[in-house]
Amino acid sequence: MVRVALLGSTGSIGTQALDVIARHPGRFEVVALAAGANRDLLAEQAARFGVPADRAVSALDDPSVLAGFAAASDVDVVLNAVVGFAGLPATMAALRAGKRLALANKESLIAGGPVVAKARAEGGGEIVPVDSEHSALYQALRSGRSSEVAALWITASGGPFRGRTRADLESVTVADALNHPTWNMGAKITIDSSTLINKGLEVIEAHELFGVDYDRIKVVVHPQSVIHGMVEFVDGAVIAQLSMPDMRLPIGLALGAPDRLDDPFGAIDWTTLSQLTFSPPDLETFRGLALAYAAGRQGGSAPAVLSGANEIAVEAFLAGRLPWLAIAEIVDEVLQEGSGPADTIEDVLEADRVARDRARSALARRAA
Ligand code: MG
Repeated sequence: MVRVALLGSTGSIGTQALDVIARHPGRFEVVALAAGANRDLLAEQAARFGVPADRAVSALDDPSVLAGFAAASDVDVVLNAVVGFAGLPATMAALRAGKRLALANKESLIAGGPVVAKARAEGGGEIVPVDSEHSALYQALRSGRSSEVAALWITASGGPFRGRTRADLESVTVADALNHPTWNMGAKITIDSSTLINKGLEVIEAHELFGVDYDRIKVVVHPQSVIHGMVEFVDGAVIAQLSMPDMRLPIGLALGAPDRLDDPFGAIDWTTLSQLTFSPPDLETFRGLALAYAAGRQGGSAPAVLSGANEIAVEAFLAGRLPWLAIAEIVDEVLQEGSGPADTIEDVLEADRVARDRARSALARRAA
């Protein structure tokens, strides 16, 4: 029995994870649940999965509770589905305690790359990505040696605004941006997807997970979201992972890794799948991707600054206080104010705090 701590249980990834777990009752046991403000759903989940009240808590804003659950001795796998930078303490605790970390919280890895790597090395923990693109790369990488990898390809659906120009996007609404064509996800990641900053964050995430340099991590727009990631090997062979867009496949793989679940969540009907298309991303309109590459290459705390500033800008957009095009402008302004080292957890926390302060100041300047 694999004992699972599920952090972020009432969100999109959390509820889908519980669906996967419910279908494999002899294989997984839920031993801890942490959620945000949705206490009714949390109580329902605790009752359904037999989790005692003291281990089913509304505590996403309490780093010590999250870290405690992540490091608990009766936990084998920690699914970190916390939204944003708040996921860092659980990531660190799980890796230090030598757990398998099923990582849906990409922000913790992006902001804290070097310190997360140190925690992984020291504690002996293992990261299995839940992000669909990285799950695809994780699967495709099994086909060759790391020295044989020529490039990692990450696919992007292009989001709801694919094909639009900057002029088209001047007055888009929150509802327009939340209307993702292929994936049904939480609000923050859906907005990140519309700006392509999500894809940029995924480039940094791939660099941190697989140790491949930025020149060999590439993005291609693929609107059908059937190919999730590809590994190109030195002999020209490309190994891709294909499945219909259903997050339960990568969630199930991360929970059961290295084994696969006998539950074909993303099975393709080849009689109806008529075409798979590809095009380069439009970096002029979707500046978030280029900003993320630049921050990744700069290293140190620049990815933390990028991610922290983006969280504030996305919050402001969702609250109707910022136009869509200005999300990338805020992130750019904050990045241009500089970054520093990210050698310790204190460096990372400080970089995140400063980035948020600067983003709030940039918002205030725009409003003035
Ligand atoms: Mg993804």
